[in-house]
Amino acid sequence: MALIVQKYGGTSVADPDRMRAVAENIAFTKRHGNDVVVVPSAMGKSTDNLIKLANDVSKTQPGREMDMLITTGERISMALLCMALADLGIEAKSFTGSQAGIVTDTAHGKAKIIEVKGDRVREALADGKVCVVAGFQGISTDKEITSLGRGGSDTTAVALAAALNADSCEIYTDVTGVFTADPRIVPQARKLQHVNFDEMLEMAGAGSKVLALRSVEFARNHHVPIHVRSAFTWEHGTWVTSQEPNMEDPIISGVVTDTSEAKVTVVAVPDRPGISAALFEPLAAANVNVDMIVQNTSHDGTTDISFTMPKADFAAAESIVAQVAGEIGAAGVEHDADISKLSLVGAGMKTSPGIAAKMFRTLADEGVNIQMISTSTIRISVVIAVADLERATRSLHTAFGLDSGQAYSAPLPERK
Ligand code: ADP
Ligand code: ASP
Ligand code: MG
Repeated sequence: MALIVQKYGGTSVADPDRMRAVAENIAFTKRHGNDVVVVPSAMGKSTDNLIKLANDVSKTQPGREMDMLITTGERISMALLCMALADLGIEAKSFTGSQAGIVTDTAHGKAKIIEVKGDRVREALADGKVCVVAGFQGISTDKEITSLGRGGSDTTAVALAAALNADSCEIYTDVTGVFTADPRIVPQARKLQHVNFDEMLEMAGAGSKVLALRSVEFARNHHVPIHVRSAFTWEHGTWVTSQEPNMEDPIISGVVTDTSEAKVTVVAVPDRPGISAALFEPLAAANVNVDMIVQNTSHDGTTDISFTMPKADFAAAESIVAQVAGEIGAAGVEHDADISKLSLVGAGMKTSPGIAAKMFRTLADEGVNIQMISTSTIRISVVIAVADLERATRSLHTAFGLDSGQAYSAPLPERK
């Protein structure tokens, strides 16, 4: 008997019909002799709506209370799914993250899973039940309810799969797999049959939403094979595993887009030792995820420091940066929310020179201005204006030979 963990994203359980369709797939999997653990996300846009509600009510939003609020979306889904399963004659039991023994650190809003106890889930499985565990949440070492950061239900699913030693973890979503680019931006994107963990880590780290970064880290560290597939067509999707790429695989496996970050520039900073530490230490202490950093060499004794971070961290960062800028004698602080990050990812880059040059030439020919650049051994990222993003993404996709002969044909459900 195999143990399969199935995670269903928000669009996949967006309304009562979808909830029942998902229940049918769970029942099908169970009736084929498998043990099943299910991790549902909140229905449709309900997490966004809860955040909006908090914004409408309060400016303060203590982390503990925000997590109490936004973890409710997944609890609604888990209960409704168990009801839909009961209608199909399947015995199912729902568990909150805390009841499932998902223990996290104390960082509200972006808690990291420390341990998955899973005793009650194991007991219910042994009893023949389908277990439905609310995604995106846990209980902290201080016994408070925590959320795992946006997209965190992926991480719940993979962490449970690792702890329960599941045979595979299926991530059901609203596209048919992992593609060479987001099919909503590049209709000619090709579905990848297989992606290895290192490439998927870079794609997720570069901001591809299809899998949350921490879920891929968990999968790689605990050898959990992931199958990303559609909850609308149910066809086979993309396997994410430790399998190394072949020599024949293309050099570039994908173009990744990210519009979730903003850029901050601290202008005319005195160019002396300790300035970067003075700026970035307090940001790190406030748990702000600084991503790309650029500092120009100075000619006149001052320099500009620019960095990007998630827009969601901006409120926490704003006052810190303003204060430090004053203390170090900078001329001012500028913010730009209309930026996007565009990345090329591919394991073949390690051994193929000239990829960056070709990327920059393609963008130059499109008249796209590059504001920042960063690289790893298998990724090149640039920051550009968000207005240029679609054009730039499609031109890189074509230039690196990734276009498929036909446009994406499966339904692309509207995200309600
Ligand atoms: P879910 O709610 O199911 O977790 P997400 O929005 O988190 O769904 O992730 C699925 C979305 O990821 C797709 O609808 C697609 O627009 C986007 N996406 C971004 N990059 C890719 C990619 N390379 N392959 C497939 N989907 C991608
Ligand atoms: N509902 C949460 C979100 O919208 C978690 C998830 O869907 O994975 O971010
Ligand atoms: Mg997701």
